[in-house]
Amino acid sequence: MSAATVVRISDLHKSYGTTPVLRGVDLEVRQGEVTCVIGPSGSGKSTLLRCVNHLEKINAGEVEVDGELIGYRRHKGRLHELKDRLITKQRASIGMVFQNFNLFPHLTVLENVVEAPIGVRGLSRAAAVALGKELIARVGLAGREESYPRQLSGGQQQRIAIARALAMEPKLMLFDEPTSALDPELVGEVLAVIADLAEAGMTMVVVTHEMAFARQVADTVVFLDEGRVVESGPPAELLSAPRHARTREFLARVL
Ligand code: ADP
Ligand code: MG
Repeated sequence: MSAATVVRISDLHKSYGTTPVLRGVDLEVRQGEVTCVIGPSGSGKSTLLRCVNHLEKINAGEVEVDGELIGYRRHKGRLHELKDRLITKQRASIGMVFQNFNLFPHLTVLENVVEAPIGVRGLSRAAAVALGKELIARVGLAGREESYPRQLSGGQQQRIAIARALAMEPKLMLFDEPTSALDPELVGEVLAVIADLAEAGMTMVVVTHEMAFARQVADTVVFLDEGRVVESGPPAELLSAPRHARTREFLARVL
């Protein structure tokens, strides 16, 4: 039996003003799979992730997560925009980790992690703290619960950002260049946490320039260029024997 589809994107179009950024993207991610998205700067990678968790409104096409249309509901053959409350609920089941950590600077590590489970999921403080401590340990930072973000290295902050996203017990995790803002010596510890999550069966879409990571961890690599999927496939194929000239040119620049 093949695993269920968690993400299904079909013919997704997104423009900013009159500038098309995504020009008909199709993508499927099955339960427990890791998809790495690679591509040049400006190709639409961040926009693609932002459409999946409805940080951007799409212009055409469909995004489904776990069988639910994101941002819309179908009624009598027509699409109707969801109310904000329902969009918030959909978004709560999708974890996102950004390039720049985005921790709350005035909150401790533990408070950063428990804020959403208490405020959005409605967990009791005791339950959220227990979960938070477990997740902080899982990203290798047990003992740092009372530290403030500024007291942590970039790599540690990003690991806390991952713990914070996991505290919502998401069915899908999105990573947007999670190591691009880090000093080179801190990249490995963050990628190791993401690889552990993959090992544990989390479904993920990871935008990254770390080709060695993509090769090791991805089930599928997608090459995006000018708002279209040029090609996709297992890393051993796409990274070693790309079929398209544009993929070859891109890889020649980054490998
Ligand atoms: P990538 O993540 O692959 O570098 P992005 O998705 O960030 O690409 O951006 C794709 C294109 O859309 C770029 O040309 C960028 O300048 C443009 N863009 C991104 N966000 C906005 C926005 N909020 N308003 C207008 N243009 C945007
Ligand atoms: Mg980007």
